[in-house]
Amino acid sequence: MFSQGFEPSRALGQNFLVDANIARKIAREASTGQHARAIEIGPGAGSLTVFLAEYFEQLLAIEADRALAAELQSALSVRNITNVEVQNADVLDFDFVHAGIDLLPTVVVGNLPYNISSQIILRVLERAWYVESLVVMVQAEMADRLLAPVGSRNCSAFGVHVALMARARPVLTAPPSVFVPPPKVGSKVIRLDRVRDPLSVVDPQLYDTIVGVIRLTFGHRRQMLRKVLSPKQSAVVGSLGVAVTRRPESLTLDEWIAIGKGLEEAGLGAAG
Ligand code: SAM
Repeated sequence: MFSQGFEPSRALGQNFLVDANIARKIAREASTGQHARAIEIGPGAGSLTVFLAEYFEQLLAIEADRALAAELQSALSVRNITNVEVQNADVLDFDFVHAGIDLLPTVVVGNLPYNISSQIILRVLERAWYVESLVVMVQAEMADRLLAPVGSRNCSAFGVHVALMARARPVLTAPPSVFVPPPKVGSKVIRLDRVRDPLSVVDPQLYDTIVGVIRLTFGHRRQMLRKVLSPKQSAVVGSLGVAVTRRPESLTLDEWIAIGKGLEEAGLGAAG
């Protein structure tokens, strides 16, 4: 699979998927949305890439490891796979806005490097408006946070933040044994489908206000809202009929949005 002397990099989160059945299932799941193009993040040696290439006319694969990107490129040429563009780049430097210039509805796929998966998910949802879905392998614990309904005990600031833009659903669970080297934690594939007209696009200022108040309150998730919010903010929340004795994990998405609107109207928003 790898050239001699290759040492997986922990810093780049290199745990390679060696189970072809799982790789195919991920590619098939990604293909259900009828997207014209897929962007794969962190293709590594290409275990998922070869299946994605079967399902998509266009595939852009972004790999930070220069040696792996070069190896993948030549492995694809040997197999005569011509519909994959491999880019040697750090996905956190990738210009997602520019990549959408052709307006092609896109799905983002990947067995993500676990140390930056939350950053990747937020960046794609916030900047790549043409990406309609993500089908991604993440740490099981992160998947559970994204799958926990907003307003339930296990929800998190990250989960509520993502829920402003997308709906999550489980796809499959992968034990450590299907990776080389095996990670210390379990993994899950989830699907995120973008909601229609997300606030981040329709009203970026309101979106920033809501994200600000989510982060502030979840920073003290065991505390009642009134202990964390300023008196003025608490007064606004109370006037909306949301008891300030509640904890952030109990709030529904509609309540978060109402709070954001209330704070904006009172001049207490992100731009205030
Ligand atoms: N898709 C391959 C597989 O399933 O076998 C590899 C998955 S491995 C968990 C993560 C991959 O992401 C590695 O190939 C790693 O080099 C790459 N990677 C790590 N950080 C990256 C970044 N910032 N930008 C692009 N690729 C990155």
